[in-house]
Amino acid sequence: MDHLRSRLLAWFDRAQRDLPWRRHPSPYAVAVSEFMLQQTQVATVIPYFNRWMQRFPDWSALATAPESTVLKAWEGLGYYRRARLLHGLAQRVVALPGGELPRDPVALRELPGIGPYTAGAIASIAFDVPAAAVDGNVERVLARVFDERGDFAMPATRARIAAKAAALVRDERPSAYTQALMELGALVCLPRNPHCALCPLHALCARPDPARVPKKSRTTTTRESETLAWIVEEGGLFLQPPGTGPRWPDFWKLPVWEESMMVPADAPRPVGLTYGITRYRVAATLQPGSWARASQPELCRVPLEALGELLLPAPHRKLIGRMLGQDGKSGQLQAPVVAGSLAKAAND
Ligand code: SF4
Repeated sequence: MDHLRSRLLAWFDRAQRDLPWRRHPSPYAVAVSEFMLQQTQVATVIPYFNRWMQRFPDWSALATAPESTVLKAWEGLGYYRRARLLHGLAQRVVALPGGELPRDPVALRELPGIGPYTAGAIASIAFDVPAAAVDGNVERVLARVFDERGDFAMPATRARIAAKAAALVRDERPSAYTQALMELGALVCLPRNPHCALCPLHALCARPDPARVPKKSRTTTTRESETLAWIVEEGGLFLQPPGTGPRWPDFWKLPVWEESMMVPADAPRPVGLTYGITRYRVAATLQPGSWARASQPELCRVPLEALGELLLPAPHRKLIGRMLGQDGKSGQLQAPVVAGSLAKAAND
């Protein structure tokens, strides 16, 4: 075990990436990065993290911000529950003695949004407290090193790996060790093609077939399709305001296409994309059209120039971007371009 730690730490000292939350690893910065990195790639998180730290530089700034502002800053990262939990965490932290997170992983787990993994990550990375933090990357590395053949959909398999991770914890450099294990999973021990020849654990690892370890039984995905309406009148797009519809209750949304109330237009052309939400894979089409009769009272006509300011679900924002000829990848609609894009779309 000590060989594994020393090799890993030596590798981390020379190979670690320069990530913004590593430059000034305050408990706040570490917590923000950990919330953002759940189910989201590092490259996607970096610009969001940098903007977030400028806008909400500490717990107090985040705690006093309106929820709509916090959700808007999170827009495009997905899984908005994380933003609400982080906001709720800030409000709890500013009320704590000293206005800071506790160091103890057990006390951390009492706070909103902090489970066993996040508690271990914050305690070790931010406070240098010896604590295990087992995320997907760490599970993969340890499953391969220790040749764990069990199914990771089963709690017993996860518990065995958690016990191995706990047994590896030492007082020496807990912050670097936690990050090193995560970094190895992110850069070297990749899910499909691990770079075993470059790995510092090469001589210690069981190196099973990466297609078989870690084993995870598949969850069933349900496929759906939906058609959404693009109806523009007098420079305004009809949208459902927040508080309506079963999905994304806090967001402005494109309305669902209704055959009985809408008439398809020949131009511009429909656009589409596929997105995932929980266990669904949804093929969405944005259909241009007009009203067959009076518009629905729960819809609002929003000036196109104002779309960049609204909180929109990422798939809807991307569809609108595609309809307007924007790339839809930048995370934000470009408000000044919107009016010009509409004119171009109408003339095409
Ligand atoms: S030797 Fe290969 S399988 Fe083992 S930890 Fe390193 S990269 Fe992963």
